[in-house]
Amino acid sequence: MSWITVCGGGNGAHALIGTLLLRDKGIQIRLYLPIEEERSQFVEAISCQPSFELRVAGKVYSVASKRIHVTADPKEAARSSVIIMVMPAFAHEPILSQLAPYLTKENIIAALPARSGLEYQAWDILGRANREECTVVGFQTLPWACRIEEFGHSVIIHGTKKRVGAACLPREEIGEKARVFSTLLGMDVIPYQSMLELSLANTGQLIHPGIMYSVFGDRLEEVFPSENEVPLFYASVDEAAAKVLSRMSDEVITIKDTVEQKRSGFKMPSVVHLSRWLDEAYGEEIADTSSLARKFQTNQGYQTFKVPVKKLNAGYRVDIAARYLTEDVPFGLLVTKGIASVVGVETPMINEVITKISRWIGKEYLVGGRMIGCDVTATRAPQKYGIDSLKGLLQQEI
Ligand code: NAD
Repeated sequence: MSWITVCGGGNGAHALIGTLLLRDKGIQIRLYLPIEEERSQFVEAISCQPSFELRVAGKVYSVASKRIHVTADPKEAARSSVIIMVMPAFAHEPILSQLAPYLTKENIIAALPARSGLEYQAWDILGRANREECTVVGFQTLPWACRIEEFGHSVIIHGTKKRVGAACLPREEIGEKARVFSTLLGMDVIPYQSMLELSLANTGQLIHPGIMYSVFGDRLEEVFPSENEVPLFYASVDEAAAKVLSRMSDEVITIKDTVEQKRSGFKMPSVVHLSRWLDEAYGEEIADTSSLARKFQTNQGYQTFKVPVKKLNAGYRVDIAARYLTEDVPFGLLVTKGIASVVGVETPMINEVITKISRWIGKEYLVGGRMIGCDVTATRAPQKYGIDSLKGLLQQEI
């Protein structure tokens, strides 16, 4: 019998719990839920329902809910050798801090997904607790598009990625850890060479803030009278928006090239231009590959996603509190901007996107293009951790 700790009780955590339990009858889950209300709701749900259900493509797969043991005790949570955080990046800090005193070199603590800059936060928190010897794994994305159907009881998986990239601290363990997680998740886990590669290869940090800025920036006050009239998100990319996204992506490629030139032998092959990434990620799902805009417009996988909105008394308006901004900027684009500053790369397009979005969400990140705004402390930019050199960026990676 092996135990795996899952941290988080949201959509992704439900999908992960169901997947792990279905794939291996010998697995039991320690579900670490430090938020009291969520914990008591989950305990109540599994005590009322003997099964936990995963719904995929119209089929229902059931596992016994008694295999899920809910806990609020970080010491107990750290008893499993594999611990997986499935939550937005802003929740990694409290979870890592709560678990850190109990972690040992036997633990693998993973973030599914990591977003960017996980390594700086992990070095900081685990270092202060003297727990650097445990292994940290960051995944590039959540492998499922999923939604809770009934809390603590059932989840719908709308789509599953065939493979997911991952990086590891220490870097040389990624081959072995990729095999462990491939078996647990039932999909190919592609080893990335470094956490820096994972951070820069995070395409959500470009696509989400980039589209909000270029497509919806002038539509923040617009009221969409009904749900049907809420515009599509990715498929709304026009030529002008594609130009913005392409320039942002070019800037990331310049950061990658600069790091690789400064550090011979250090390579980040997964950091590719958005246009190529779309081809590789979606392949034949894209009907027209003649331009970046057309790739967004004709990608089958993008046709159901609408711009995030909040409900008004009458109608809907673009939601600036959505994770596309509140997660992908401080735990994505700001990290990349911070890395660019450290290695001396100018990023005028990324600066403009950050500056405009900062105004919408009432944050100060950049002052005169520099990472000195008062809200940088609430991001995972290297500057938050006092990292100001390439050596610092790569401290435990080379
Ligand atoms: P969610 O909102 O459903 O889950 C949030 C969970 O995080 C909460 O239920 C809670 O358990 C935990 N949490 C939040 N703040 C916390 C705190 N301060 N302390 C302790 N726990 C806290 O999110 P999700 O849909 O499961 O998404 C998880 C991640 O996966 C996000 O980064 C999201 O952007 C990404 N993602 C999700 C999907 C999807 O289909 N759900 C798809 C792609 C990527």
